Amino acid sequence: MAETSIVKKETVICYRCREAGHKKLECPKKFDIQHMTMEECEEWMQQMALDKDIEELLENQKNEEDFPVSNE
Ligand SMILES: [Zn+2]
Repeated sequence: MAETSIVKKETVICYRCREAGHKKLECPKKFDIQHMTMEECEEWMQQMALDKDIEELLENQKNEEDFPVSNE
């Protein structure tokens, strides 16, 4: 098999930073706020806050295993 490998490489172009070789989702500048739109930035910050909330929630759940149910 002496086939010259002229593989037509599919070039992906990142929609975020316009660089070739990776997709938007794999963008190394994903968390670079400078490359975010206002909307994305807000979304990102909300996600960060959400993650923190969940962390705190789990932390609280650990402490309050016997959560009092006041529903009579
Ligand atoms: Zn990129």
